[in-house]
Amino acid sequence: MVLVKARKLAKIGVRGVVQGVGFRPFIYRLAQEHNLKGLVRNTSGNVEIEVEGDEKALDNFLSDLEAKAPPIARIEKVEAAFYPVKGYTDFKICQSLSQEGKYQLISPDIATCEDCKREIFSPTDRRFGYPFTNCTNCGPRFTIIEDIPYDRPKTTMRKFEMCPECQREYDAPLDRRFHAQPNACPKCGPSLELVDGNGNPVEGNDAIKTASELLKAGKILALRGLGGFQLACDATNEEAINLLRSRKRRPAKPLAVMVATLEEVEKHCLVSPEERKLLQSPQCPIVLLRWKHSSSNIAPAVAPSLKYLGVMLPYTPLHHLLLTEAGLPLVMTSGNLSEEPIAKDNDEALRRLGGIADYFLVHNRDIFARYDDSVYMVEGKPQAIRRARSYAPYPIFLPFRSKQILACGAELKNTFCLTKDEHAFLSQHIGDMENEETLEHFENTIELYKKLFRIEPEIIAYDMHPEYLSTKYALQAGSEHLVPVQHHHAHIVSCMVENKVEGPVIGVAFDGTGYGTDGTIWGGEFLLADWRSFKRLGHLEYVPLLGGVAAINKPYRMALSYLYTLLGEDFSLEGLPLGRLNATELDIIKQQLRRGINCPLTSSAGRLFDAVSALAGVREEIDYEAQAAIELEMLAPNKVGEFGSKLYPFSIVERQGMRVVELGELFSMIVQDVKNQAPVSVISLKFHNTVAQMIVEVCKLIAKETRISQVALSGGVFQNRLLLKLATAALQREGFSVVTHHLVPCNDGGISLGQAVVANFSSISESQREAKPLLYNLFPLPLQGEGG
Ligand SMILES: [Zn+2]
Ligand SMILES: [Zn+2]
Ligand SMILES: [Zn+2]
Repeated sequence: MVLVKARKLAKIGVRGVVQGVGFRPFIYRLAQEHNLKGLVRNTSGNVEIEVEGDEKALDNFLSDLEAKAPPIARIEKVEAAFYPVKGYTDFKICQSLSQEGKYQLISPDIATCEDCKREIFSPTDRRFGYPFTNCTNCGPRFTIIEDIPYDRPKTTMRKFEMCPECQREYDAPLDRRFHAQPNACPKCGPSLELVDGNGNPVEGNDAIKTASELLKAGKILALRGLGGFQLACDATNEEAINLLRSRKRRPAKPLAVMVATLEEVEKHCLVSPEERKLLQSPQCPIVLLRWKHSSSNIAPAVAPSLKYLGVMLPYTPLHHLLLTEAGLPLVMTSGNLSEEPIAKDNDEALRRLGGIADYFLVHNRDIFARYDDSVYMVEGKPQAIRRARSYAPYPIFLPFRSKQILACGAELKNTFCLTKDEHAFLSQHIGDMENEETLEHFENTIELYKKLFRIEPEIIAYDMHPEYLSTKYALQAGSEHLVPVQHHHAHIVSCMVENKVEGPVIGVAFDGTGYGTDGTIWGGEFLLADWRSFKRLGHLEYVPLLGGVAAINKPYRMALSYLYTLLGEDFSLEGLPLGRLNATELDIIKQQLRRGINCPLTSSAGRLFDAVSALAGVREEIDYEAQAAIELEMLAPNKVGEFGSKLYPFSIVERQGMRVVELGELFSMIVQDVKNQAPVSVISLKFHNTVAQMIVEVCKLIAKETRISQVALSGGVFQNRLLLKLATAALQREGFSVVTHHLVPCNDGGISLGQAVVANFSSISESQREAKPLLYNLFPLPLQGEGG
């Protein structure tokens, strides 16, 4: 008697990024391999598979499904149920099934894969030198999608009709280009054109070759990339860089560089294994790498006074071809004027970038969604600094099922967040919400996400700052259910939730400025926080933000505010770099402080760093956000040495149940060091040590009282790698467990995620949500400290 092995039908549902990434051909191949019959099809909500065969084969099929999935697929969930066989005789890829209300995760754009790279550099390949080559494993996705399901007619590729050869690839289940929606070749796809500033074609039959000649000659090129235009110039040419800087009105902020290969990157920078992995990943972000100044010929003007260089590898065929042809590292920065959104359309670029670029490398594959390059740093683990291209709109997975919420984010480095089910769709970096163009980009992108993910928000969350454009948008959006979220609470919750920590935790939120619940400007905060609420348990000492927001661009004003407030109005500036200031200005400043004119109080850690930077003579005025603090950090020695454990004094006092870090002693000792001409590197290191120690000491006091030993670090100040490293290590030495950011930025780019989570759990009633005090007409607290 022959034993008949049990045959079964498995019905399998797969959720995640499984459409437009070569998933169905992969399933087709896998079914053949395991000798299974059945079908696979896309639906609006997932990929459905039916396979029949013996139990062992089905088991193997299921384990391979997750283990061997295509490189850019991301499997979120696999569900399988078993039934009696139907009697399939073959395996088929069936037509997509569209279902009302269901939605799909959408693949972000993915860097050119090795196979496609090989093709564009193979003289015999039909795609040799073709800048729009892609396949199911790489190429544009989110930037070209107008609606779901993801099919060519719903993308900006619909105007290109595939030639017979491309169509054959598209139709063949075992081809790398099976259902690759942006599939194209030189015969049927988009094409490139080089034009001058008036839009007139430039002579020459090879646009890339001519463009690279122009770059080598020191010209500035605008090129239409994946998510918008980029501005490029020779990164070794100081003059070209300075020209770009003055035209773009970006005097000092670091620029990113694109380098042809990893070997080439290693000539300019130190690259750790973790950084190498990130540089070469399908996301291909800008990575902040330690710059080998002595052996790199990249001009210092790319990132003045900085130890780190933002570097990325080419991530589209156009970039590969251009970088190879030019044979130079290229500055590659967003195609915009200072803080406006990146330009995406050809005519828009000519209009908006006409004053910056000499030439334009344009093409006719339209960009639907704007997308800047993402920026990462690796400190222990990779950490997002700017989350955009190739990361959004992939969601952050929530450890709970969320209501449908729109969180509008903060003002600077804005992102918004839409939630549904376990998904938090954190938008790509939108930008600084200070002009009409960015607001429009914000509004349009919200509409796009709502449409793509079928979200109708029932709650709108926003920052408590009444002047943020994102707050104004929230209040005008006509929602019945509005939830204001305190800025630093949102920071801490964003960190907690990406680490799946429910809390309560001791949240250390150190940043530039955020609107506090008492009408002052917070920014050096110790919160007892969970997903729903928080209690402020400590903060840095208040000082006046001299002249309001104007103080942010003039760190020397913050230094004066600390000195006069903490050390007395008669404090003498003699022997300090600040002593050079004009006497009349000093008099005005003293009067301003005395009368409290336009001097809201702040506990900001960012301003403390600014003040110390100015006091130490590092930087008195800034050209970009946090420049003074960054340059102070850069001056600390790489090797800690004998000053590794030196600290400045400070004290912690308790006022009304609140721990306040008093800074008078710190400032008087820094003053002494500056007067004694101690090296700035020593002052910088001692100061960083001291701030780390402040964090530890306050956390210890709070832990004693609350018995909580988990700390979450968030806020833009933790982009300071030295502080992050010192604070984390010092906390861990004291037995704290520490969570930090990885997926979302610690800066205001992560705020919207925290807002959404707080809104989901918050049960604040309408009446408790009455108007908060306005920022600049209310100074509820007396000046604290000896001299104020
Ligand atoms: Zn490819
Ligand atoms: Zn073709
Ligand atoms: Zn912030």
